[in-house]
Amino acid sequence: MSSQYDVLALGAGHNGLTAAAYLAKAGKKVLVLERKAWPGGGVVTREINTPGYWHDEHSSVHIMIQGNPLIRDDELGLIARFGLKYRYGTPYAMIFSDQTTLVAYKDLDRTCEGIAKISPRDADTYRRFAERAIQMLPMFSAGLYAPPLPLGAFVAMMDQNDEGREILDAMQRSSLDLARQYFESEKVRIWLLRLVSENLQLPDELGTGFGMFLMPGLMHGYGVSQPIGGSGRLTEALVRCIEHHGGEVRCNAEVRKVLTSGGRAVGLELTTGEQLRAKDAVIAALHPHVLRRFVAGVPEPVLQRAERTTLAAFSIMVSHYDLKEPIRYHAGGEVEDAIMLEFMASDRLSDMLDDFDALRRGRISERVLGAGGDESIGDPSRVPPGCGLFHGITFAPYDLEAGGAARWDEIREEMGERSLRHYQRFVKNLTADNIIRRTIVTPLDHARNMPTSMPGGDVHGLAPYFYQTAGHRPTPDLSQYTVPGVERLYLVGPFMHPGGGVYGAGRATAIRVFDDLSIDFEKVVAAHS
Ligand SMILES: Cc1cc2nc3c(=O)[nH]c(=O)nc-3n(C[C@H](O)[C@H](O)[C@H](O)COP(=O)(O)OP(=O)(O)OC[C@H]3O[C@@H](n4cnc5c(N)ncnc54)[C@H](O)[C@@H]3O)c2cc1C
Repeated sequence: MSSQYDVLALGAGHNGLTAAAYLAKAGKKVLVLERKAWPGGGVVTREINTPGYWHDEHSSVHIMIQGNPLIRDDELGLIARFGLKYRYGTPYAMIFSDQTTLVAYKDLDRTCEGIAKISPRDADTYRRFAERAIQMLPMFSAGLYAPPLPLGAFVAMMDQNDEGREILDAMQRSSLDLARQYFESEKVRIWLLRLVSENLQLPDELGTGFGMFLMPGLMHGYGVSQPIGGSGRLTEALVRCIEHHGGEVRCNAEVRKVLTSGGRAVGLELTTGEQLRAKDAVIAALHPHVLRRFVAGVPEPVLQRAERTTLAAFSIMVSHYDLKEPIRYHAGGEVEDAIMLEFMASDRLSDMLDDFDALRRGRISERVLGAGGDESIGDPSRVPPGCGLFHGITFAPYDLEAGGAARWDEIREEMGERSLRHYQRFVKNLTADNIIRRTIVTPLDHARNMPTSMPGGDVHGLAPYFYQTAGHRPTPDLSQYTVPGVERLYLVGPFMHPGGGVYGAGRATAIRVFDDLSIDFEKVVAAHS
């Protein structure tokens, strides 16, 4: 067994890369191993169909990472030195079925002017919500990008004042409950509930109320962004950073097990049989459901609790279109630059709730819960000159009531056509004469693509329910990024605190490793190297 590395990482998703990059900056010799032919996991931009058309294969919107000191303070120099550039567009818009629109700008006043056209009272309420959420951002941020407090301590802390109690309350209520309590207009309710459901949450799920604060706070506080060139530019900047500090990222290197000795992780074994040794730490993108397969020595009750964690109620299907010309909307140009754009099949709240109910039950409903946009409109580098690219998202169950997940391969194109018909109600030119090629990616494809981080097609790793959040995510045993029974093994992934999405959550894993190795995190991030 060779022993040239201090730190090994299983998986070159953006979280594994983030953790590895901090450790490389600290002077550790790191090697990141990736089973695919390219790094990035769910943060990848590739020419999927036609040369010159750069599609975000999975994530495209970077919201949560904007509050992370990784980006906010550019701790690793990703922006200043390693080529990452963000574009801040209009954060969020909705086109209703009657082709009217409601737009959230970063500017709160401008947003409230739009809401006031539907309901002046809701505009006032929204302003109060958003202002309060912006005030709370520093508190949210302090807890989101570092190891979480134990849940008991977190609850005791929040219970000390009205502001904290309000958050605790929202963390246990549903977004539907809050929308009904505070807002009078059906359209404003739908607009907010769809925004919160972007986190793959049903509006009536208890615990989703927190998103009613967090999302407006993030939109108006930090803004919503996409890297210029696509989501994968974040991955590329992280790889450059690791290499700059002497680390390596090796692709086509699938790990089959974590090597242990004397209750400690000492290396990784590839499917080829090659064994690599880590002197200080092993970082692994291993979902609680697959831990048993990769690591020996974890106590049985810990594994059983890990395997009881709950996946999100539904997943998404993605449609990638290469176009001869950019998208045009019936609703006009106001929504063209929206980074998150929802297309509503019905403007009745009860219809939308029925559609979410169908998802929960594994059914395909007649109406589509769909979103999408042409990312080349704000970033022409994504397409050949004058062309367009459409990225369509349709909420979809993973485990279909009729036929289970395996049926997705059979209904892929049929579902693609159904989504296309829905998008065509809102997009003027998503038509045969404009479409060059399309690729449909199903929930089953996500599970196949990311077997150790998104089983069951859960693109956010695990549902963000209160019982598996903060100091209990994914379970109390595993919440500190460490694994009982196996010292020096650390976890990264969307199933860890703070949750799924492009968060740069590997920073928190790195902080935990730094603590165990007695390295001063603040000193390392402050160093210019
Ligand atoms: C279709 C889709 C759309 C999304 N849209 C958004 C969005 O717009 N905004 C947002 O914030 N989030 C979005 N997400 C979620 C986001 O992509 C994930 O939360 C994020 O990528 C998780 O990052 P990660 O690094 O923790 O894990 P992953 O990205 O899953 O990375 C894990 C890596 O480990 C590798 N790996 C796994 N097993 C092995 C092994 N045995 N050996 C070696 N390597 C291995 C995988 O190949 C992968 O590269 C989306 C996800 C999907 C699927």
